[in-house]
Amino acid sequence: MSTAAVELVGLSKSFGEVTAVDGIDLRIEDGEFFSMLGPSGSGKTTVLRMVAGFEQPTSGSVRLGGDDVTTRPPFARDVNTVFQDYALFPHMDVLANVEYGLRVKKVPRKQRRERAMAALESVQLGLLSDRRPTQLSGGQRQRVALARALVNRPKVLLLDEPLGALDLKLRRAMQLELKQLQREVGITFVFVTHDQEEALTMSDRIAVFRDGQIEQVASPAELYENPATPFVAGFVGTSNLLTDEAARAVVGRTGTFSIRPEKIHLDSEVETGHTTARGTVADVVYLGSVNHYLVDLDAGPTLTVLRQNLHGSTGQAMSRRGQQVTVGWADEHVIDLSDPSHE
Ligand code: ATP
Repeated sequence: MSTAAVELVGLSKSFGEVTAVDGIDLRIEDGEFFSMLGPSGSGKTTVLRMVAGFEQPTSGSVRLGGDDVTTRPPFARDVNTVFQDYALFPHMDVLANVEYGLRVKKVPRKQRRERAMAALESVQLGLLSDRRPTQLSGGQRQRVALARALVNRPKVLLLDEPLGALDLKLRRAMQLELKQLQREVGITFVFVTHDQEEALTMSDRIAVFRDGQIEQVASPAELYENPATPFVAGFVGTSNLLTDEAARAVVGRTGTFSIRPEKIHLDSEVETGHTTARGTVADVVYLGSVNHYLVDLDAGPTLTVLRQNLHGSTGQAMSRRGQQVTVGWADEHVIDLSDPSHE
């Protein structure tokens, strides 16, 4: 097996009584865009800080490119971190901010300039090099922070919710830019986020965190199509989770199952061979390009059904409230989460 860019072995961290990270084993391959996804407090940032060297593990080890760096200070590790709050120097212009790391490393002035300008151009900020951070937008400041990390040409770039302070539209644009940039520079990116859409958009693979442990590591498609646990099914995308009585009523047997809302068809869309159920539309949530229908099944449970607004008006969709409907799905879209090894 080739050497991993990052390898965590039995990594744990406690803060007094709190176990923030609980025995994590993980390999991140060279050149991967890898995301750590999980709710607030699940331990993602603590893992990132241990990889960077800002935090010492209680037990376990961190390897970078095959070297055990567990006891090395941050500056002796071939990684750079980009934080959500950018941490730019306000009194320096953009170019000086980006050059800073190279100046500390005593890189000669001419070379420093060239590398800093190249880094700024890679994030499309070549023309703003003489501005101060306060004269930039949030998105531009985030790009300066990226350029400042990239200029050091680290083997691994650690990103802690770097897009968290941006509005949704800019965030989406930056997600695509970041992914493209990562492909161009070929550096391993380790990206922390609690936003599942963000992780699905950018990552080659994602680790889903819960209570200091990893529930599943997989590609975005694999996580979505084949969640290993009810937690993953619920956290990544929207899901109809069916347990106990609800499972018996809808799937016809006991266990824990999940059906994605977009896999459920309504009325005329129901196809031959589908499993069907009758119900009443309790509510319709209009979301622009799609609608969510909440359908109370006669058999008991409520299912969320997502349909695209390809035909018909908003009014028509809303008027289905209170109507009797038939829902249907292909059995292959019922995900069985009952396997006890998933728990
Ligand atoms: P978020 O998305 O909110 O940043 P996270 O998944 O990154 O969350 P961590 O910041 O790693 O989670 O925190 C994990 C747990 O460890 C939390 O319960 C947190 O309160 C605790 N914790 C983190 N840092 C410290 C610290 N320096 N001292 C005490 N407890 C801490």
